Amino acid sequence: LRCHDTMGIPICGACHRPIEERVITALGKQWHVEHFVCAVCEKPFLGHKHYEKKGLAYCEQHFHKLYGHLCFR
Ligand SMILES: [Zn+2]
Ligand SMILES: [Zn+2]
Ligand SMILES: [Zn+2]
Repeated sequence: LRCHDTMGIPICGACHRPIEERVITALGKQWHVEHFVCAVCEKPFLGHKHYEKKGLAYCEQHFHKLYGHLCFR
């Protein structure tokens, strides 16, 4: 992994392999688009909105299920 790091190629936080196409940066790591998934249902976000809490990522459905709505009114 170190040689990839020095070459500036991002490493996927899920499969630990280099990412040569589109990179998702989230949770302080980088991910293949198809490997950045909801912590509950494991569906990839594929560039859709995700929610982060306590170092995990969730789809909207499961974030709301676990933590409720984030309403500001
Ligand atoms: Zn990956
Ligand atoms: Zn989910
Ligand atoms: Zn609401």
